[in-house]
Amino acid sequence: MPLSEFALIDRYFRAVGVRADVRNGVGDDGAVLVPPPGEDLVAVVDTLVEGVHFPPASDPASIGHRALAVNLSDVAAMGATPAWALLALTLPRANESWLAAFARGFGDLARAHDVQLVGGDTTSGPLSITVQVLGFVPRGEALLRTGGRAGDSVFVTGTPGDAACGLSLLQGRESGRGSPPAMLEALRRRFLFPQPRSGIGVQLRGIASACIDVSDGLAGDLAKLAQAGGCGAEIDVALLPLSDALRACAGEDAAEQYALTGGEDYELCFTVPPARLGALRGWPCTAIGHLVEAPGVRLRRGHNVIEFSHSGFDHFGG
Ligand SMILES: [Mg+2]
Repeated sequence: MPLSEFALIDRYFRAVGVRADVRNGVGDDGAVLVPPPGEDLVAVVDTLVEGVHFPPASDPASIGHRALAVNLSDVAAMGATPAWALLALTLPRANESWLAAFARGFGDLARAHDVQLVGGDTTSGPLSITVQVLGFVPRGEALLRTGGRAGDSVFVTGTPGDAACGLSLLQGRESGRGSPPAMLEALRRRFLFPQPRSGIGVQLRGIASACIDVSDGLAGDLAKLAQAGGCGAEIDVALLPLSDALRACAGEDAAEQYALTGGEDYELCFTVPPARLGALRGWPCTAIGHLVEAPGVRLRRGHNVIEFSHSGFDHFGG
């Protein structure tokens, strides 16, 4: 049964998240929002297109989750706390079971991060999802890419490479033969349901000199961060925090490639000046190298510089 745009939004999206700082949410021409006094507003936006950012016929709950997660990851990389989301949804047709699952994936993550959906738009066309998230950070404390300096240590959260390997499994480019099924499932879930590092992003304020989220691949995203600070970076590949699941599924060499160039991790890569390193004790992050004066990203294994052809993340099927 085709649904009118209003009925569709009302049924599936009106109740996603509830916040006291929303004067007027979904259902009017615009949302009316009350930013906290003394804070800077942080705004991010991201589009996911079927066949480019996720495989065709993906689980709609995963698509809803990822459409919000990639934005929450950008907010986390700014050291900000997310608050409000806007959703522009282009759908081939208003399929109710698809919408219900999409809204569940989106809504579960929104509630987990105390984010309210405050507006949206629906259009008919090839499947594409654009989400904007607004968040706050105390005035002047946002984490920027530009603050890194030679001598700062480079860290990454979590275990990069898992999501890219999970996508390869979903696409049949990686067989996973011989690996425990639970490990393969864990890798697939790292792609389908990435968990943005919101808590760590906020805690990094005043500690990290620069921060970026890893969406396009650790080496490429670190290159952007280093360049923004007018320096370069060195990664010791022996220090990469590879998960047991990634090692088991892909083998050691391919695991390193996934971690360096795979993308879709939504982990945070950040830099910390020597004087503030003590603040990180006990955090789920790993030191993988340093910023250096010379531009570009170089890889070494212990003391040996190694060759590296950086292809970055070429998007699904690209
Ligand atoms: Mg980003």
